[in-house]
Amino acid sequence: MGINIYNRKEDNLVRCKQNIHNKLNTIYSYPVYAYFEVSNACNLRCMMCGPQVYDLRFKQSGYKGVMPLEVIKRIEHILPYMHSCSLMGNGEPLLNKDFLQIARIMREKQIAVSFNTNGTLLNEHYARELIKLGVGCIIISIDGATRETFEKIREGAEFDKIISNIKGLSKLKGGIGKTPKIGISCVSMAINIHETTDIVHMASSIGAESVHFEPLFQQNTFGYKEMYENQNLSNVPRQQIREYFNKAKECGEKYGILITSPFYNTELSNYDYFQEDRIVEDQELPFCTLPWTTIFLNRNGDVRTCCGSAKIFGNVLREDIQKIWNNQKYRDYRNAIINKKIPIECKMCVKNKREENLIPIIEAQLQSYNVARQKDIEREGGLHGSNMSAHIKDLENHIGNLETTVRSKDAVLNQIYNSNSWIVLSFYFRVRNKLFPVNSKRRDFARLLVNLLKSTKRIFY
Ligand code: SF4
Repeated sequence: MGINIYNRKEDNLVRCKQNIHNKLNTIYSYPVYAYFEVSNACNLRCMMCGPQVYDLRFKQSGYKGVMPLEVIKRIEHILPYMHSCSLMGNGEPLLNKDFLQIARIMREKQIAVSFNTNGTLLNEHYARELIKLGVGCIIISIDGATRETFEKIREGAEFDKIISNIKGLSKLKGGIGKTPKIGISCVSMAINIHETTDIVHMASSIGAESVHFEPLFQQNTFGYKEMYENQNLSNVPRQQIREYFNKAKECGEKYGILITSPFYNTELSNYDYFQEDRIVEDQELPFCTLPWTTIFLNRNGDVRTCCGSAKIFGNVLREDIQKIWNNQKYRDYRNAIINKKIPIECKMCVKNKREENLIPIIEAQLQSYNVARQKDIEREGGLHGSNMSAHIKDLENHIGNLETTVRSKDAVLNQIYNSNSWIVLSFYFRVRNKLFPVNSKRRDFARLLVNLLKSTKRIFY
C-alpha cells in the first residue's frame, strides 16, 4: 500500500466546495453525487406513491421501464470523479436485469453504492452478488410492523416474504456492521403512525441498523390530493405524534438502531408540515446545493438535479454530460438559486423543506481523506520513501508537459478543465500544504497556477 497523495475524487470535492462557496454558475467540478433511475417501473401499487398515478398517464407512452445500460455507458468518463451514487428513482431498481452490471461499473470506479428497494426481489442470488460487489447500504421500504398494516399500504407485497428476504441478507453478510448495511425507510402516515415504535423493534430483530421516518409530504401529482388529505399527519393529534417519535427514539437507543426523521431536526421541530397554504417567499429561500453537486439521471438519459425537480437540462444519449452540466439551462438554474429566485420546479420541494445543503457532507468526506492520508504517511514513515517515486514521476511528466505547452491563462484553464486537471490541482495543493518534496521550479509553477486561478475567481484555494 502506498500513500494516497492525489485523488481525483478528493480534488473534485475540493473544487465542488469552492464552486459553491464562490456561488459560481459555471462550475469547474464534475458531479460528486448521483441518482441513477435504473427503473421507473414498479411491481407494487403502494397507496402513497405518486408515480403510481403516473401509470395512468404514461400507460401507453413508453415512459415507464428500466434504464438501458447504454445510458450508463455514456457517462462513464465522469465516474472516476464521483463519490457516491444511489441506484434508485421512481421505481423498483431490482426490476432492471442489468442492475448488478450497473452496480459493478460503479464499484469498479470506486463509487459508494446504495439503493432503496421494496425488498420483494431481494432473493439469495441478489444478496450474494451485492455482498460480493461491496454495495454499502440497502434501504428497504417497510411502512408497517404488522402484516395487516403493511399489506394495506403496499398493495402487491407479501410482508412475510420481505422479512424473510431481509433476514436472509443479514445472515449471509454476517450480521450487524458488515456491508451492505441494512436500513429501513417508513413513510409516516395516519394509517401507520401507531406502529412507529414497533417498526424499530422489528428492525432490530431482522438485522437493520437504521430506521428513517419520513412524513407524507405534499405533491402536485394529479390524483394524489384525496389520499394526502386522509393520510397526512395533521389528521393525528400533535402530542400523540410527539409521543410516538420519542418512544421510537428511546427504543432505537436501547437496541443500537439509528433513528432519523425530520421530526428530530431542531430546525424543523417547530415547522408546520401541514400548513396547506404556506407561501414560499423568496427571502426565506435556503441555498440548495444540489445543482452544484448532484445529478439525477432519468431512466431514459434525461438529466435533472434531483427527484424533486422535473426540470430537464439535457439528455446524455444526445449530448455529452460535461456540456449539459454547464449549459445555459443549468447556469440559469444555478443563477436563480444564487439570486434567491427559486426556480418554479423547486417550489413544492422548498415548501416541504426538502432542499439540501451538502457542504457538511463534503467537509466530512474531505476530512476522512486527510485522516486516511495521515495514517498512510505515519505507516510509511514519511513522504520521501520509495513509495513516492511513481507518484512523483507521474506528476513531473504532466507538469513538464504543461510547462512547455502552456502559453496563456486560457490554456491553463483549459488544461485544468480537461481530463488531467485533477493531477495539476493536486500538484499545487500538495505543494502548498508541504505534502510533497518541492524544488524552486515546482514551487514557481504551482504559484503561477494558483495566481492565474485566483485572478479569474473561478477556483480559489
Ligand atoms: S430545492 Fe429541491 S427541487 Fe430544487 S434543486 Fe434543491 S432539492 Fe431539487
